[in-house]
Amino acid sequence: MIKGVSVTGTGFVGLVSAVCFAERGFKAYAVTHDEDKAKTINQGEPPFYEPKLKRLLRSSLKSKLFRCTTDLKEAASNSEITFIAVGTPSRPDGDIDLSIIKRSSEEIGEAIAEKRGYHLVVVKSTVVPGTTGGLVKDSVEKHSGKKAGDGFGLCMSPEFLREGKAVYDTFHTDRVVIGEYDRKSGDILHKFYRRFYGKKTPPILRMSLASAEMVKYASNAFLAAKISFINEIARICEATAGVDVAEVAKGMGYDKRIGHLFLEAGLGFGGSCFPKDVRALIAYAQRKRYPPLLLRSILDVNERQAFHGVELAEQLVGSLKGKRVALLGLAFKPETSDIREAASLKIIDRLLGLGAEVAVYDPVAMPEVEKLYGKKIMYAGSPRDCLKKADCCILVTEWSEFKKLKPGDFTKVMRNPAVVDGRKVFNPNVFSKKLRFAAVGWGHQPS
Ligand code: NAD
Repeated sequence: MIKGVSVTGTGFVGLVSAVCFAERGFKAYAVTHDEDKAKTINQGEPPFYEPKLKRLLRSSLKSKLFRCTTDLKEAASNSEITFIAVGTPSRPDGDIDLSIIKRSSEEIGEAIAEKRGYHLVVVKSTVVPGTTGGLVKDSVEKHSGKKAGDGFGLCMSPEFLREGKAVYDTFHTDRVVIGEYDRKSGDILHKFYRRFYGKKTPPILRMSLASAEMVKYASNAFLAAKISFINEIARICEATAGVDVAEVAKGMGYDKRIGHLFLEAGLGFGGSCFPKDVRALIAYAQRKRYPPLLLRSILDVNERQAFHGVELAEQLVGSLKGKRVALLGLAFKPETSDIREAASLKIIDRLLGLGAEVAVYDPVAMPEVEKLYGKKIMYAGSPRDCLKKADCCILVTEWSEFKKLKPGDFTKVMRNPAVVDGRKVFNPNVFSKKLRFAAVGWGHQPS
């Protein structure tokens, strides 16, 4: 019976997974190289913002079922399964950087070398097909002196959680995918998941290691394609008076074959997954001598979409040189402090390049942005402060507190009230009557 699990990587996936495993009664270890980070986590402070995580972390520390450690050997010897949840960033050429995966696999190999008994290694990180059965297997074998399928087992189980809903998603996934090196490895992981989810066990799909790796890429590429698709439709809607992409998406989404989710037009996708995973799949396809035309278009449409927020601002107020632009929202999406590949960063760069003054506000992501821009931009303490004396506002991230703003909240404090709704949160018919207004995908009537 599985009593203990260890997880390498203490980012969104690793830390959330380990804490949730502990919540379900497993003895869970999160493993990091960073002593300070381990100390902070063991004091009950997550290194990033994620709803519900702090409360769960503190209760799992109290119950002594969770601990963050820098000692992988200790964690591996007190657990039967080690999940690899380290980062898989993009290389400058867009291909996947597997160096952290390699290092983590080598460390796991060393950690289980002297362990008596079988140990299961599970890759949770997003990796291109062939990685688990190749690089991971070879590295663990080389550094443990054991053979896969004999001294240790091997699985690939992609993670589908969403930042901002990571805890909820870990307990309520739509499906679990198990890629297995051999039947024994798959059986052990299957049993673990059945115990973790209990009566609410979702469908568990078992397949080859490489198919499991591909499921993750195909899923993310499909979701990213849905976003780029509706953003392209949004641009066509803008050119057509009286069409609103939100109404169009609603009309489409009731078709069960299409569905409502991921059909929200905006300033494009960002974050640590969609851009890097689509890039990695493109590079992988090219290596396999297939030209991925559709995948490239997903990124092309996305690349232009953030800058479109600035274009809409220029359409409203003319040249932005010397004008103050207020950005509401910086995180790549609501409920996270993550700004990796966020639309806000592209917009700030473009605005600074155009000679605009930039004021920003975000409920949680401001410290991350300050690390990048320092004194080049102004940081406001509230939406109202951010809007003060601004000549234009671009709503970049749809935090719920922004959805409550009324036209008067802008007209009272802005120097020249003009609003670009980059995430379709305001009613264009109401706002456009009170101030200069543009929104992604809204083809307004010529005035
Ligand atoms: P992250 O960048 O937030 O965290 C990775 C962590 O691994 C960092 O804390 C880093 O310090 C640590 N690390 C690096 N080398 C290590 C080592 N040798 N031993 C232990 N720790 C080490 O990454 P993340 O967002 O948690 O994503 C991890 C993986 O899961 C990636 O492959 C990602 O694509 C995938 N994924 C992410 C999400 C998401 O929403 N963030 C969702 C699904 C899948």
